[in-house]
Amino acid sequence: ATPMSIMVATGRGANAGVLIRDAEALERFAGVDVLIVDKTGTLTEGKPTLTDVVPQGDIHEVELLTLVAALERGSEHPLAEALVAGAEERGASRQDSTDFESVTGKGVTGTVDGRRVALGNEALMRELSVGVEALADRAATLQAEGKTAMFVAVDGQPAGLVAVADRVKQTTPDAIRALHGLGLRIVMATGDAQVTAQAVASEMNIDEVHAGVSPEDKGALVKRLRDEGLSVAMAGDGVNDAPALAEADVGIAMGTGADVAVESAGITLVKGDLNGIVRARKLAEATMRNIR
Ligand code: ADP
Ligand code: MG
Repeated sequence: ATPMSIMVATGRGANAGVLIRDAEALERFAGVDVLIVDKTGTLTEGKPTLTDVVPQGDIHEVELLTLVAALERGSEHPLAEALVAGAEERGASRQDSTDFESVTGKGVTGTVDGRRVALGNEALMRELSVGVEALADRAATLQAEGKTAMFVAVDGQPAGLVAVADRVKQTTPDAIRALHGLGLRIVMATGDAQVTAQAVASEMNIDEVHAGVSPEDKGALVKRLRDEGLSVAMAGDGVNDAPALAEADVGIAMGTGADVAVESAGITLVKGDLNGIVRARKLAEATMRNIR
């Protein structure tokens, strides 16, 4: 494309909140076959709210929530903010944790009031050898509703679960339809559970779902598709998406997300909704058509 046509396209993009890094990103995006999208914060609002609290054994709801909030005050994950706010609303008292550790894509651990507390997905519980069979049915029901269920363990024993719901962005289903019309295959990649991911995907026309994937898995998925000869774009908002964004032919960051995501991206969507991707694709195609 000519420098002029690229300037025009990037200028139009910028006006619409679609920041295109350089000519290369624009040209490459015209040739992309597959768009991989993260779920939380990309397809959904990324503002989850606490919906369910299920204590197990002799722990009370408020006690469970106090432990959850104490841990999550140390975390920057979107789920953490939701859990802290929801816990405080339901009467959790303020406590702090020590030895806080975050296990990317799995959850968090720490010590609260002399007790070892862990909070996260099934993979985290497996890693810590905590049996959650007694909670499995309840978790599955919540997940079938599209909610994210997280297990809590105290001193190595299961202590209950908490669930949050995150609404699909209003613009997402129409944008997916438009992207299909522009010839893209849409693949969801999420660290969340399979059942939750499927429930969300069924609200829109996602071609393929990869659930329970770690940040490294997301990167590997991009690489695998590229090795098949496909040109791949990845859209994500989080720290956990950075490896995949870097691996993709075109990385697309939600401007509303983490700074690292923006740093590894060729395209940044200021408003953070998928319509920006539709816009970028149309601009890219128009620019490339002009030069051929
Ligand atoms: P996504 O790919 O949807 O953005 P992540 O990879 O960040 O999700 O997280 C995957 C899963 O790990 C979450 O669905 C949750 O079960 C668990 N998890 C991650 N961080 C936390 C946290 N701070 N607190 C509780 N659970 C967490
Ligand atoms: Mg995310």
